[in-house]
Amino acid sequence: MFQALVFIFVTSIVAYFSIPKYRDIARAISLGRMAPVNGSVGQRWKNMALFALGQKKMFSRPIAGIFHLFIYVAFLFTQLEAIEIFIDGISGGHRFFAGKIGVLYPLLINLVEGLSALALVATAVFLIRRNILKVRRFHKPELTGWPFRDANIILFGEIVLVISILMMNGAYQALSLTLPDIYPDGGKFFLSAWLTQPAFETHLTSYAGMCERTFWWLHYLVILGFVAYLPHSKHLHIFLAFPASYYGNQHARGKMEKISGVEREVREMLGMDPGSPSDAEPQFGAADIHHLDRTTLLQAFSCTECGRCTAECPANQTGKRLSPRKIIMDIRDRCEEVVKNSSYQRKENGELEIADGKSLFDRISREEIYACTTCNACVEACPVLINPLQTILEMRRWDILMQGAGPASWNSLFNSLENSQAAWSMSGTRTDWMQTN
Ligand code: SF4
Ligand code: SF4
Repeated sequence: MFQALVFIFVTSIVAYFSIPKYRDIARAISLGRMAPVNGSVGQRWKNMALFALGQKKMFSRPIAGIFHLFIYVAFLFTQLEAIEIFIDGISGGHRFFAGKIGVLYPLLINLVEGLSALALVATAVFLIRRNILKVRRFHKPELTGWPFRDANIILFGEIVLVISILMMNGAYQALSLTLPDIYPDGGKFFLSAWLTQPAFETHLTSYAGMCERTFWWLHYLVILGFVAYLPHSKHLHIFLAFPASYYGNQHARGKMEKISGVEREVREMLGMDPGSPSDAEPQFGAADIHHLDRTTLLQAFSCTECGRCTAECPANQTGKRLSPRKIIMDIRDRCEEVVKNSSYQRKENGELEIADGKSLFDRISREEIYACTTCNACVEACPVLINPLQTILEMRRWDILMQGAGPASWNSLFNSLENSQAAWSMSGTRTDWMQTN
């Protein structure tokens, strides 16, 4: 009874301090503007199944993909054991499902143990890759300090989770041999029976009982630690990759969103039907997060910081300051800054105003956005369908259309487009060549 009270108290404390942080993230995403979602619902579900659940793009680098799959599948199945721990914690009992679901119980626990062992190997490989082999994409300027430690913290947490499962299960099996009334037999768990159970059988029952409880609590506290830590971590992608891939852009890569007001003017200028007028004010790019749409902000919180985008970026490879991963991390940091300072309010017309005197341009320099070749390699590489290019283009639009800025060398291109509707100032219409050839 006392243990159940402590369990409920500790769980409630963690929930009390964690829920506001999750609420802050929801608030941050809602700072983005509403934008129509394109593509079919069927395709969205398919994208979510393929890219978030199936991790399809992770296998473009097969070794990393397989090890990541070990951790991911182990995470999914360990939740079954976590559910039982939660029920046992509240009821003050042991192994709620043992004996209730027949042979399925040892099957599931053996599956959890097997996957946990694979996850342990994968975790060790990832730690070595980051900290000893120093894979280049994990040692870029934007991944120093906290973002680098963040990955290590989670990897060490996973090691503690796996070890505590195996120790807890080994001690439990030793106890169920001597005190079956208190510790109901759940069948044989092969890995822990071989690895850890012998260490408890040679000691007093009270020692095995103490160890079982210690590792049970350790396992649960690490789970609670993850719950409290996730909203501060890139590992939020475990959950947010699902909605992010569902709402991801389905347009052909490279298709730029038109600015409705400007499109009307251009069509009028070319003698074409301008289409029906829209009541909405045209949006000329983005200077800050409330100019970006909600999907972009959601994706910023879904970024795994894997750096695959940056590794593929030709600008980054040739030593430019641009890193698409940093663009996404900057969006997320700016969201958190605005929410933390509560420096925003909705005007009467529903528009959002951010009044801290800062913008995305304080984090993302013009040097970065104009270094982009718009090649789409980052979009192609991202395993969770994030589109860093979209934000780069929006910021360029703001800089050029609202600030009259942008590289001076681009002005001749703009003049050509305006005067001759062609990139090169050709006389006549740009399609004449088709008739003469
Ligand atoms: S689209 Fe821009 S940011 Fe993305 S990979 Fe190409 S150059 Fe880099
Ligand atoms: S944007 Fe995509 S590819 Fe780039 S770091 Fe984030 S998850 Fe990885």
